[in-house]
Amino acid sequence: MNKHTPEPWFDRLEPLLAHVAKPVQYVGGETNSVAKNWNDIEVSWALMYPDLYEVGQPNQGNAILYEVLNQTEWVAAERVFSVDRDLEALMRARGVPLLSLETHRRVRDFDVLGISLATELVYTNVLNALDLAGIPVHSVDRGEDMPIVVAGGHCATNPEPLADFLDVVVVGDGEQAVTELSRCLRTWKRAGKPEGRTGLLAQLAATGEFYVPAFYDVTYGPGGAIAKVSPNRPGVPLQVQRWVLTDLDQWPYPKAPVVPMAETIHERYSVEIFRGCTRGCRFCQAGMITRPVRERSLPVIGEMVECGLEATGLEEVGLLSLSSADHSEIGDIAAQLANRYQGSEVSLSLPSTRVDAFNIDLAAELARNGRRSGLTFAPEGGTERMRRVINKNVSEQDLIDTVTTAFGSGWRQVKLYFMCGLPTETGDDVLAIADMAHNVIEAGRRAAGSRDVACTISIGAFVPKPHTPFQWAAQTDPETANARMAALKQKVREDRACGRAISIRWSDGCPGLVEGLLARGDRRVGRVIEAVWRDGGVFDGWNEHFDFDRWMRCAEQELTQFGVDVAWFTTRERPMTEVLAWDHIHLGLDRGWLWDEYQAAVSGTPVRDCRWDDCNDCGVCPDLGVDIEIGPSGGKLLPLTVADSKLV
Ligand code: SF4
Repeated sequence: MNKHTPEPWFDRLEPLLAHVAKPVQYVGGETNSVAKNWNDIEVSWALMYPDLYEVGQPNQGNAILYEVLNQTEWVAAERVFSVDRDLEALMRARGVPLLSLETHRRVRDFDVLGISLATELVYTNVLNALDLAGIPVHSVDRGEDMPIVVAGGHCATNPEPLADFLDVVVVGDGEQAVTELSRCLRTWKRAGKPEGRTGLLAQLAATGEFYVPAFYDVTYGPGGAIAKVSPNRPGVPLQVQRWVLTDLDQWPYPKAPVVPMAETIHERYSVEIFRGCTRGCRFCQAGMITRPVRERSLPVIGEMVECGLEATGLEEVGLLSLSSADHSEIGDIAAQLANRYQGSEVSLSLPSTRVDAFNIDLAAELARNGRRSGLTFAPEGGTERMRRVINKNVSEQDLIDTVTTAFGSGWRQVKLYFMCGLPTETGDDVLAIADMAHNVIEAGRRAAGSRDVACTISIGAFVPKPHTPFQWAAQTDPETANARMAALKQKVREDRACGRAISIRWSDGCPGLVEGLLARGDRRVGRVIEAVWRDGGVFDGWNEHFDFDRWMRCAEQELTQFGVDVAWFTTRERPMTEVLAWDHIHLGLDRGWLWDEYQAAVSGTPVRDCRWDDCNDCGVCPDLGVDIEIGPSGGKLLPLTVADSKLV
């Protein structure tokens, strides 16, 4: 029980809200939000997504951890988001610090500040949030009464650029990690906080499952590369292990996610139908770091959908995962859910990314109770050679066959995702995207018997990421990537027969270079992040706030003293032997296997999906003591709730 229960601060925040845009995002009190009595709890978590409410609230990972934590009687978890610049200015002027949404308590009064790192471009927001909360940005300056600042999420797989600002890093699945951290914290508090913060951190670090950056020293060699990363106190292991959850059916969260009151980027009840992906796309960090595939069974998915819709009143169900159409029972899931909700207002969606005919059947099933909107495919590369490099093994004929079926079945629009700047790419690989789009439109017109078909090309700059085969690869500089994308746009414009039916959305390569610096940076890059933030940089993920020149200026100012620069971290190919900043964060992936995959990419050699074929020896299963968990389960959804008996 908390001896000292901190005060809510809403009465000091409320007068400011009349003067800012979208004030409802700061109020809380939404359906399913949990405001516990602080007199009854022993461990408090402020769970932060470091961006605005509209972006952060729908985040599935945070929704899961919020429920997992709050289901424990003696734990309270409350949400925190970045405040927009207008409110921040008022808060700083009036001395109002960063507050939680549920009870509007100061973030600095919580035991833990848990930060979700879904993208690198929020790093300046992390520093800004700490500062607004009144928590020193450097972990070394934090007093005994300060929260433990913990980070997790995909970007935490290389936490080194944020090493000076974080107390603890959790890598991998968070469900058990947050539970274990809460338990350790409670035990430490009950014991009278032996050896203070350092005592708790040492206890966590000793498990090998919580990374405490301050307990590791990094030394550098003459060329600027890391010479060594080593623990600086006894009892701290050389490497930190990833958390991995098995049997997803035992963790059916979120059951009743918060229903946003303010507008958010999407409003649906999402069920993660499986975790992990073994398709082996060599550019995809999410796929590599979440191996192996672990499916949720059909009965549990059905129960989650039914209970989730009832608890939220939402009318759209999203079937989430990295490649949802790959669930071994996706056909049954889609058909049975479509049957169950036929005639109701409930619609189903899944991100369609597979280029094959089965996906069309599936999309038709999902569209039974909803709009027949556009279909999305992700060939990622413009030529078959390029797609062999990235192990996205679809042929142009596969794509043409699929869109022909789609246009023949009533769809009128397809969206195609590509990346620019992939390893070994030439300008011709990118220009070939225009030919592909041309062929899609021609095939579409033939199949639809009409000229009323459209194709959108969405293309962005590729950023090599840690723990992937491309972790050694040179990133393409933004000038080259932008020039290739501009040439593509020109070629589409010159296509007299089909160009008007093709639209292109491309994103500038400059933010990608900064993302690359942060993704593969080491502790020295932390100085750049801090300099950018001190110069006023926040919300770098938003085009209107991103300032490339400031990033380059601060990088030069902070990195020159170490004999390295932005190019050294980004557009340079690393040798196999170089110590990578994240080598001590062990996800189970075999480093030699990743290197072999890089070489296989360069030679265009494919690798098969171990879910359906032989094991490729990536190392994850034996190393972490886990296994692939897929169906068929043979299960069925729970007994159907008939939505409209006239239609059944
Ligand atoms: S160890 Fe083998 S089976 Fe397991 S994820 Fe890796 S390649 Fe697949």
